[in-house]
Amino acid sequence: MCKISDFNLSDIRHQLHRLAEPSGEEVRTHAFILEQLKACSPSRILTFGDTQSIIAVFEGEEPGRTLLFRGDFDAVRVEETIDVPYASEMAGVAHKCGHDGHATILLGLARSLHQRPPQRGRVLLFFQAAEETGQGAGQLLATHCLDAYQPDRVYALHNIPGEKLGTVLGKPGSFTCSVVSTDIVLQGHSAHAAEPLKALSPYPAARAIADKLLSLNNYDMRSDHYRLLTLVEFRVGEQAYGVAAGDGVLRFTLRAKDDAWLQQTKKEVLQIVDEEVKKVPGLVSSQSWKEYFAASDNHPEAMAEVRDAALRSSLEYKELELPFSWGEDFGLLTQHYPGALFGLGSGECQPSLHHPHFDFPDELLPIGVRLFRELVQ
Ligand SMILES: [Zn+2]
Repeated sequence: MCKISDFNLSDIRHQLHRLAEPSGEEVRTHAFILEQLKACSPSRILTFGDTQSIIAVFEGEEPGRTLLFRGDFDAVRVEETIDVPYASEMAGVAHKCGHDGHATILLGLARSLHQRPPQRGRVLLFFQAAEETGQGAGQLLATHCLDAYQPDRVYALHNIPGEKLGTVLGKPGSFTCSVVSTDIVLQGHSAHAAEPLKALSPYPAARAIADKLLSLNNYDMRSDHYRLLTLVEFRVGEQAYGVAAGDGVLRFTLRAKDDAWLQQTKKEVLQIVDEEVKKVPGLVSSQSWKEYFAASDNHPEAMAEVRDAALRSSLEYKELELPFSWGEDFGLLTQHYPGALFGLGSGECQPSLHHPHFDFPDELLPIGVRLFRELVQ
């Protein structure tokens, strides 16, 4: 076990990087973080049956505010292509979103709180599993463990490639979009490829649905009615040359600036699917929704605290005009407790998130720890 005295942020990140595991399967990562945390002697450590997430509680000497900091630790299903001694040990899975760095920053904060406990109030460190699938935050809320703590503030950071290393990026209100994915399954029936007219093809309905959903797009991010519907899969039939297509599937992601507009868009999608399927007698459809991410709603006071902490830490602060179009599971926590999700630049030349060449820069680790520690003060 790494002792507090020889705690090295880069080493910790490299070990987490090597352990990369996909969302919901972070067993070895959970064990590693738990071992590191125990060496920091928090007042309490909470683990849960249904999720690999962990909460560490550091109590201050006097009563005061309760602050929660989140660091996610799941990896993504992308092949490791970088040649480093700490490359992922799991084929097809690697830390390409920088969650190894986020978790290391939180462990760095744990070490700092061990050495210098908070004077007042208490600090909760939320090591989050299953962020990429939008499940971890909801799983934590479902345990009701936060009911006893009622955080006054919740904070999380995400590294942002393409931005100068260490620049803090903030925005009051919506910081990331509300996102949901949907599968639309169409079931007709197949026939011999020599007699396609005897099949009930899903193709005309599938084409009409795809075209109509794409026509809902409003690419103007400045508009409150910005929404993006992205076709991620369009398939009818199988690779069987003797068979005319009898079924099909369309997969879309929907994103909007806020939850209300996302809900409205979902209603329109359901209506379009229903109308187009009804035009083809005998065609049956089923639709499911998955991987929902609530829009992050940054509280103005929490955002101002982040800005002030950045300036006190001699970091550049950049206020964004527009939210990011990606979803972040932390959004769900900002809908329950006042808080802020903010960005931390991970370098102008850094490949984009989920790119196979992405690797969290070690230089950013102490900067993240310093910024979180400044928020504790
Ligand atoms: Zn991420």
